[in-house]
Amino acid sequence: MAAGGKYQRIAMMNNLTNLLDLDPAQLVAYCGELGEKPFRAKQLQRWIHQFGAADFNAMTDLAKSLRDKLATRAYIGAPSIISDHTSADGTRKWLVDVGQGNAVETVFIPEENRGTLCISTQAGCAVNCRFCSTGKQGFSRNLAVGEIIGQLWMAEFELRKTKGVEPGPKGERQITNVVMMGMGEPLLNFEPTVTALKLMLDDNAYGLSRRRVTLSTSGVVPMIDKLAQECPVALAVSLHASNDALRDGLVPLNKKYPLAELMAACKRYLEFAPRDFITFEYCMLDGVNDSDENARELIALVRSKGREVPCKFNLIPFNPFPESGLRRSDNARIKAFAQILMDAGIVTTIRKTRGDDIDAACGQLAGEVQDRTRVQERMKKMAEYQKKFGKNFGRIVEVST
Ligand code: SF4
Repeated sequence: MAAGGKYQRIAMMNNLTNLLDLDPAQLVAYCGELGEKPFRAKQLQRWIHQFGAADFNAMTDLAKSLRDKLATRAYIGAPSIISDHTSADGTRKWLVDVGQGNAVETVFIPEENRGTLCISTQAGCAVNCRFCSTGKQGFSRNLAVGEIIGQLWMAEFELRKTKGVEPGPKGERQITNVVMMGMGEPLLNFEPTVTALKLMLDDNAYGLSRRRVTLSTSGVVPMIDKLAQECPVALAVSLHASNDALRDGLVPLNKKYPLAELMAACKRYLEFAPRDFITFEYCMLDGVNDSDENARELIALVRSKGREVPCKFNLIPFNPFPESGLRRSDNARIKAFAQILMDAGIVTTIRKTRGDDIDAACGQLAGEVQDRTRVQERMKKMAEYQKKFGKNFGRIVEVST
């Protein structure tokens, strides 16, 4: 399994190449440097990404001479696991070590006909959205390709191990969908994110369809265009506001790329996207962005003449955290808001939250990582707030329409 932690540090000190950092074309080039034919790269890639192999000796159809070469120059190193919790509803959350005191979260959400993995692309985040606990933690660093794809690698084979499913293409695939919605703004870590996406889509790696891989952005307009050119996958946009004044306060990036520009970029993206709609995520904040008027403004925004954006809305009940000073809209308000959008013919869902008991609900995890004692502090604080505001403070209550 993962060559993480101490071994990984030793490997890095010895200038070994982490093969998880390489996309298919780069692996072909790497094999070329070793004097090997391109088909060797495909074999190697299948061993790594389809069989979860981290030991070159296990790669029995590679010539012994190649295995020996690889053993002295390369390694396969995913981030090592700090903690691994499974919720009563089956949601499984890993906290993985990305070095220098940083850790990120990876969450698996099983559903009837699919298994979705939510992965992180940065340690912390510089965008600093007001309702997001990751943003409050600040930005630490960009993840490398191996740390991004390594989350999928680790999760797929950990899940198989737990269920007794054999590795390799014959074993039932556990992860059918990937969403880049964990820590970080993926488009601000563009190259490693795109390289990881290419591996997710490659038939000799995970072979996921573009429609089953979703990148979520807070709206980095030029990079949305670049993604359309380099690796168009399904796109979700963290919208959270119906006008610029409101969005400037909630998603500071809006000051740089205001709504008109963002909507135009979404429209352009759809010409290349594997799906014919954009998903807009909208965090429901009591008294801030949840009025009937806000809903009507949203309809006007996505329907304005000349820049109509075919879309779906995903309303997200806010996960309160003490420092935010924000509250979650109540269920009746969320439903009423959804109804206005649906009456206008816009497909609208309300996110069912998962994994509350393991703190894996969206935006819950930041701050947990750098110093584990902060978890205790947060829990203590949360207990205080629950005493003050009722036992549901900080918990998500499932809402259905
Ligand atoms: S919502 Fe996304 S972009 Fe905004 S601070 Fe959180 S992780 Fe960053």
